[in-house]
Amino acid sequence: MRNLTVDAVILKKHPRGEHDVSVTLYTPTLGRIQATAKGARKIHSNFTGHLDTLNICRIQLYCNGPHFTITQCQAVNTHKEIRDDLERSVMALLLLEIVQKTTYSTETGTRLFELIRTTLEQLSKTTKTTLTVESFKIKLLAELGVLPDFAHCTVCQRKWLETDHITLEEGGQITCYDCSTAHKQVAIVPFTIAKLGYHLHQQTYETIEKFALTLSEENHLKKLTDFFLHNFLEREINTHHILAPRA
Ligand SMILES: [Zn+2]
Repeated sequence: MRNLTVDAVILKKHPRGEHDVSVTLYTPTLGRIQATAKGARKIHSNFTGHLDTLNICRIQLYCNGPHFTITQCQAVNTHKEIRDDLERSVMALLLLEIVQKTTYSTETGTRLFELIRTTLEQLSKTTKTTLTVESFKIKLLAELGVLPDFAHCTVCQRKWLETDHITLEEGGQITCYDCSTAHKQVAIVPFTIAKLGYHLHQQTYETIEKFALTLSEENHLKKLTDFFLHNFLEREINTHHILAPRA
């Protein structure tokens, strides 16, 4: 049994029993965890306004084995600029959902927490919400270790030329024409999209904000990031299905 103070982003919140609330948190030191806030549904609860989805909070936890109880919570950022804007809200909720699906407890997530925090900060001030969320997906895939190298052929390591015929394969490889296997081809990746993927991975949001994408580029990019996320989840679900039930 121990007491801990952690920073956390609130991914999800739902009622538990008559008075309590159960929240899903992502923290730098504990990864994704589930915690209970006792009495949080009472009208004069100290938690009111602090424990809302999307908030970044400083939380005190009482930890008893695998069970976490929130004893105190102070919202550090409530992301008002996101809540006041429908498009930003939709994108932020999508982001939280992706985090929930791709993360686990007992992992240290300092870099991932920082990525979530800076992405929400960016969503608070940008009008380019799709670009921001697509950049987030690319950066997240890199953190999860499943982002291909967008600058080279996965097989022969050759750097892309503008004239290359780049293909995406079933297993997630991005290959040149010579290295591709005909029956495994999933899609053609235009050179501009491969280049874009590379820059979204490498650059900060400050630089990315200056990018202007056409609708077709946005759609191509979205197809690509969704393909990799889907691939990752399929693999994870299969592995975890065998090893242990998902929390
Ligand atoms: Zn090749």
